[in-house]
Amino acid sequence: MKIVVLIKEVPDTWGERRLDLETGLTDRAASAPVLDEIDERAVEAALAHADAHPGTEVVVLTMAPASATATVRKALAMGATSAVHVVDDALRGADLLLTADVLAAAIRRTGFDLVIAGNLSTDGGGGVVPAMVAELLGVPQLTALSSLDIADDTVSGERVSDAGTMRVSASLPAVVSVTEALPEGRFTTFKGIMAAKKKPFDTVDAADLGVVAEDPAQARYIMLSVAERPPRAAGTKIVDEGDAGEKLAAFLLAEGVA
Ligand SMILES: Cc1cc2nc3c(=O)[nH]c(=O)nc-3n(C[C@H](O)[C@H](O)[C@H](O)COP(=O)(O)OP(=O)(O)OC[C@H]3O[C@@H](n4cnc5c(N)ncnc54)[C@H](O)[C@@H]3O)c2cc1C
Repeated sequence: MKIVVLIKEVPDTWGERRLDLETGLTDRAASAPVLDEIDERAVEAALAHADAHPGTEVVVLTMAPASATATVRKALAMGATSAVHVVDDALRGADLLLTADVLAAAIRRTGFDLVIAGNLSTDGGGGVVPAMVAELLGVPQLTALSSLDIADDTVSGERVSDAGTMRVSASLPAVVSVTEALPEGRFTTFKGIMAAKKKPFDTVDAADLGVVAEDPAQARYIMLSVAERPPRAAGTKIVDEGDAGEKLAAFLLAEGVA
């Protein structure tokens, strides 16, 4: 079985996150780049299946700047078999449609039985790339799975909604996305890091995939403006001098809450 895992490099979740107000893109210099934690879980799910089913091939795929190579190598050090890195400056600022076009073309080229992605990246947060990729590949999709079972011909899992838990299943080939309910990614070992240096690492551009980055015939969205979130204003503090209840009620009335 060949499993393709979609991985994305994002700014460190615990570090400072800023937008470049000139370009509207992530300010990649503001904090250390890391493999998105949700994608680490996706890689882990594929590797856990490979551990139990020798012969399983796990290919990690990203579309990211050339500087993301070390992050891709981390997924190889975790145990992935090979990597595909789509690098092309013409893809800088790619919107969701273009990203999905590129990833689907790369997946078609690699071949796949199953694609595993995170359900929502921690930076862009679009949450639709996996569904778009499934649509472009013309295969079933199971999104936001909180558990994952991979069999020879099917993939299944649980999907939690406000109303309850659904058990869902699809025949392979398929695309699934997973949530933070899945196990964390495994730690890399020195042996894994050394082995990663010798694993197949394919770097391709948009032309290799037959994707035209600036195709006027394709509808793309454009960012009209970008503004930083305003700093948080200090809240109102009520000191209890025996009349806190009255002050609180007055505050709520003034805010239109009551
Ligand atoms: C040169 C270059 C510069 C880029 N600069 C930026 C940037 O500054 N900010 C930014 O957010 N993005 C950047 N990208 C990537 C691209 O624009 C976004 O990945 C894309 O818009 C996805 O949006 P999202 O994170 O909201 O997707 P979501 O739908 O929230 O992502 C869900 C899941 O889809 C998969 N996925 C999403 N994007 C990718 C990807 N690129 N590669 C592999 N798997 C993916 C992951 O599994 C992820 O967990 C850049 C790409 C290139 C080539």
